[in-house]
Formats: sequence, structure tokens, C-alpha cells
Amino acid sequence: METKIPAKTSPVVKPLERAESHESNPWHQAMLQLDRAAQKMKLEPFVLERLRHCKRILTVSVPVKMDDGHVRVFEGYRIQHNMDRGPAKGGIRYHPQVSLDEVKALSFWMTMKCAVVNLPYGGAKGGIICDPKKMSKGEIERMTRRYTAEISIIIGPDKDIPAPDVNTNEQVMAWIMDTYSMTLGYSCPGVVTGKPIEIGGSLGRKEATGRGVFYVTRELAARRGFDLRKAPTIIQGFGNVGSNAAKIFAEHGCKVVGISDVGGGLYDPKGLDIADIMHYRDNNESIAGYPKAEHVDVDSFLELPCDILIPAAMENAITKANADKIKAKYIIEGANGPTSNDADHILTDKGVVLVPDILANAGGVTVSYFEWVQDMQAYFWSEKDINARLQDIIVGAFTEVYEVSVKEKIDMRMAAFMVGLRRLGKAATIRGMYP
Ligand code: NAD
Repeated sequence: METKIPAKTSPVVKPLERAESHESNPWHQAMLQLDRAAQKMKLEPFVLERLRHCKRILTVSVPVKMDDGHVRVFEGYRIQHNMDRGPAKGGIRYHPQVSLDEVKALSFWMTMKCAVVNLPYGGAKGGIICDPKKMSKGEIERMTRRYTAEISIIIGPDKDIPAPDVNTNEQVMAWIMDTYSMTLGYSCPGVVTGKPIEIGGSLGRKEATGRGVFYVTRELAARRGFDLRKAPTIIQGFGNVGSNAAKIFAEHGCKVVGISDVGGGLYDPKGLDIADIMHYRDNNESIAGYPKAEHVDVDSFLELPCDILIPAAMENAITKANADKIKAKYIIEGANGPTSNDADHILTDKGVVLVPDILANAGGVTVSYFEWVQDMQAYFWSEKDINARLQDIIVGAFTEVYEVSVKEKIDMRMAAFMVGLRRLGKAATIRGMYP
């Protein structure tokens, strides 16, 4: 039975193949990606129109008593982009540059990502405009707890399940879980993923995004016929995603020749000692002062000689300003939205093969899904099981996207969008429109 949906309501879509792009606005970038794919695959106009809007946007003010006694009010957001395929899912970011348009874009990419890897989730994201590097642990805890209370009207294990993102971690997730549970009067581990193991977290979650990045790169190497162990790799960002990706690449005998974080970059053409640098980072603020490698400038880091580049920091790292100078043949997007549309065109023209964020970094949400399933069943799996199931899902999704890109002669971002949009389109059509 087909649901009748009102005829075309979308705004006129301009020719998008090379449409002008506002590189610094992630929502604009995300909508350009969506429009290009929708146009290519002739997506139903009502589906496109719905995906161009977030389902629910909550802005909250978060008053926090700072250590010196004065009260500071932070602005926070929780956005649910789409819930047609299940509860909303997505991380929470603490950063001075968080904005409404950034959180909207990140929530949209979560909708796409969950559809590409076929998890029964919609997309969400949250964030607070703050600089946690300049706050004490107590201030971060009080901010997290008040933010949780403010967004508790829309989150929940059946509604919307947060997770870590930039500058949030297991401890922040534990505070969210505890605060939410206090309002209920019983423990509710399923309200959040990326928690410590002791309170319902999953084995393998911390490394999951980096592990997924490794799986897609290994699959790409097999398809393109190059030896991953001989391909010099550089990684921008040495947080959860970047450092775990570096560790897993190194464990598989690959040569990570460059890494960077916000403080600086390191380079060694013979390969860096990742375990040693992780140890250094854990005892220092940044990798910047590490003594056993050449120091390189953060701004030109992405232009270092390499075969594989993994941006794993923030959006908009690769723009029209530097795309032409990038030497990598393969780009694996560990971060969300690291490549602007303008840069995408330049890279495609140069013959660079790019595995897009909504596929490349989906390992994190996949193991978050496993964590949520384990919490709901109160039955926990071994790390071996988790990694095997993660590999199945990521390799399956990679294969599907790669085959669409070959068949349709399109880049992998477009192919991933087509795979995800087909699923989202079917869900929207089958459910129909309320009322
Ligand atoms: P994180 O806070 O753990 O680490 C971020 C890292 O990026 C830090 O090392 C920081 O110093 C570095 N950084 C920031 N600006 C930089 C710059 N200009 N140059 C070089 N390094 C810079 O965050 P994370 O969780 O690793 O997230 C990184 C990216 O991956 C984000 O785009 C996030 O949305 C995405 N992501 C994260 C997960 C996850 O499971 N944590 C899952 C999927 C995608």
C-alpha cells in the first residue's frame, strides 16, 4: 500500500554539480551534499524536503556555579534531525566554536551515517559552547549535570541516546547517566553510550571509531590493489578517533609517518612510535613537546608527503585553500565534515579517492548500538564478539557503497548518500505522514 504524499513542496533546487559553497558553514555544506545526491538519484521531493529540516531543536541555557563563586550561563543544544528509522543517536560536543548550524549539520550526518550502516537509529547531536580546557573538573561536572537535566525532556533510551564527541569522554557520559537516573529513581544505563564498563559500557567502544577507520582503509586497499603496510599514513587529530586509529594501524604493521593535534604536528618518514606518543600525550597536555620526532607546523600538516590522509579533528580541515596542495592519494574521513564541497571537487579532479565520514567513522556509532543493545538486555558480550560484529557491519557497508560507486561511476560520498537516502526514503514513505 502506498501512502499518498502531497506533491512537490521543495524549494527550487539550483544546479548543484559545482554550486557555490559557504565553506565555513557546516549546515550549508551538509545541505549541498544532500541536494547533490538527491538530484542525482531523483529522491522523492517530500523526502528531500523533510531531510532539509531538523525534526526537533532544543536550545538550553546552562547556569553553572564556577569555582570562584560566580554564576556563568552557557548555551547548549540538543537536536534530533530525524527519527524515521528509530530513536535518535549522536554525540555531545564541548567546544568554543559549537554553533546551532554546526550541531544541525552533525545531527544530519548522524541520520545519514546510521542509514548507511543500517542501524535502527535516526540522527541527533548536542553541544555546549564552552572551553573545557579552561574549566576545572568540578565545573565541567556541574555543567554536564545541569545540561543533562535541561535536555532530559527529550532524551531517553527509547527516544534519543547521546554519546561522546569532541572534548567529551567516558566520565562525562557517566555523569549524564547518573543525572538522568537520579531523575527517574533507578539506574538507566541505556540513556547514553560510551560509558565506563563498570556502569554498563561496552568493551571495544573506546577504540571502535578508529577500528572502523582501519577496516574501511583495509577494504579500500584490497579493492584498489595497494599494500596498506607500505602506504605512508598521516593522521590529523590525536584524540579518541585519531589516536586509536593510529594505534590500530601501527598494530597491523602500517607506517604512520605523521600525527598532529591542536598543539602541533610530528613527522618521521620511517614511522612514528604510536604507543610511546600516546603515553607521552597521557602525561602532557598535547603531543607538541614530544622529543623523538621532527616537529611540523599544524597549518601545513595536511600537505605532508603520504599516500593516506586521515583527518580526525574538526570540520572544514580540507578546503579550497589547501585541497590542491594535498599529496595523499586516499583520504579516509575519521572526523565529521572535514572536507568542504569545493575541496571535494578539487580532490575528485585530482583523482584522489575519498571514503566519506558517514561510512569511514561509523564504527563508533556501531559499537554504541551494541552497547545500547547490551544495556537493554543486561547481557554483555566479549570483546572478540564485538569486534567481529563491528567488522561484519563496516565491511558490509563498505562493500555496498563501493559497489554503488563503481556501478554508477560516482565518488564514494555520493554513493554513500545514495545508499543511506534509499533507506531513509523507504522508511519515510512506508510510515507516511502524520496526521
Ligand atoms: P577528541 O576531543 O577526542 O579529539 C579531537 C582531537 O583533534 C584532539 O587531539 C585535538 O587536539 C585535535 N584538534 C582539534 N583541532 C585541531 C587542528 N586544527 N589541527 C589538528 N588537530 C586538532 O575528539 P574525537 O572524539 O576524536 O572526535 C574527532 C572527530 O571525529 C570529530 O569530528 C568527531 O565528530 C568525529 N567522530 C568522533 C567519534 C567518536 O566516537 N568519538 C565517532 C565518529 C566521529
